[in-house]
Amino acid sequence: MTGMRTLTILGATGSIGQSTLDVVTRHPQRFRVAALTAHAQVGPMLSACRLVRPRYAVMVTESAAAELRQRLRDGGLDTEVLSGETALSQVASLPEVDTVMAAIVGAAGLRPTLSAAAAGKRVLLANKESLVMAGHLFLRAVREGGGMIVPIDSEHNAILQCLPGRFNGDWSVGGVRRILLTASGGPFRCRPLSELAGVTPEQACAHPNWVMGRKISVDSATMMNKGLEVIEAHYLFNAPAEAIEVVVHPQSVIHSMVEYVDGSVIAQLGNPDMRTPIAHALAFPERIESGVQPLNFFDLAGLHFEKPDLARFPCLRLAYEVLRVGGNMPAVLNAANEVAVGRFLEGRLRFDRIATVIDAVLSRVAHETPQSLEDVLEADRRAREMALQTVTHA
Ligand code: NDP
Ligand code: MG
Repeated sequence: MTGMRTLTILGATGSIGQSTLDVVTRHPQRFRVAALTAHAQVGPMLSACRLVRPRYAVMVTESAAAELRQRLRDGGLDTEVLSGETALSQVASLPEVDTVMAAIVGAAGLRPTLSAAAAGKRVLLANKESLVMAGHLFLRAVREGGGMIVPIDSEHNAILQCLPGRFNGDWSVGGVRRILLTASGGPFRCRPLSELAGVTPEQACAHPNWVMGRKISVDSATMMNKGLEVIEAHYLFNAPAEAIEVVVHPQSVIHSMVEYVDGSVIAQLGNPDMRTPIAHALAFPERIESGVQPLNFFDLAGLHFEKPDLARFPCLRLAYEVLRVGGNMPAVLNAANEVAVGRFLEGRLRFDRIATVIDAVLSRVAHETPQSLEDVLEADRRAREMALQTVTHA
């Protein structure tokens, strides 16, 4: 059995962060938590600190940090509270930490996740946006740091489980032909197209199979989530765009599949509960209990598959396009999407305009090849500005 692993959980108060705490606390002999981070939610952070008693807790906002410090002191806990964005990178690269759960949502996760990679940590990657924005830099940081990425996204975790054991990205050696990335199709798969203009944030966040944070829930409803995952799969598995096929599978029981040159297709199945990929990544290459109910085949009404409808889900088409073009374009797509989704969640942009805004921003930006993190952040900043202007006129 592997020795004790010491973790930092970035985004501890979120959906993935909470599921991670659930799995970790089932195995106190295997995992200890050195640091937890959140943006501003003090209540859930306080509960998490009580549960795992970390050495550090980071709140990005200073006022939340001050409140947490006081409440921890009142409760007699000696966790040290840090604040500000740089503290995120600091706790992601602590010498005593070997494993970092990267579960901040959106571009805000890029710097700390990259710091973890550069410091040679085992990065459990939920924050797909950071890989989409800066895939090449990210892979270089992992190589140079000497650590590894283990995907948390259920599809990519499934693909890792279906690939040959010693797969190193060389498709000709492994006999791998295609990756079949499954997608639920979200809450609007069957909704008449004419109704999409009027759907509300609550309807968009009511995912049929998964309970998730609000941003990824909207991404699932537009299928931008699947688009980001196609780009994520490209970087994680060295897969060309043509070798990644999206298969709509509304039951979310098959989490993805790998097709081999001999005609074999290997699938990973399970109940839709993120604790399975989290437990797999935490213990990799071993297996541990996750608390997830076993899959009961006799309860399944059937497994269905269909092609994605790109007229209904233009975001998926846009993601394939930016993957083919490369350079700064995936970062621009991600930034424009974050702005548009944020506005939709505030009730200030129609659902069907999310794709229109992203498309408009992409068509205004010139292709460049970012050389550094600063280049990526600059592309992100400019794309956000353009998206904000476009939203105002949408
Ligand atoms: P949530 O919205 O539930 O949680 C987000 C976490 O990030 C919270 O801890 C939040 O803190 C923190 N956070 C938000 N903004 C910032 C910021 N600016 N700086 C620092 N921290 C911040 O998201 P999810 O858990 O759903 O998703 C997290 C990531 O995992 C996303 O990238 C998502 O795509 C990915 N993922 C999620 C899945 C899921 O099932 N939920 C499945 C697959 C991937 P606070 O609570 O204080 O706001
Ligand atoms: Mg996923």
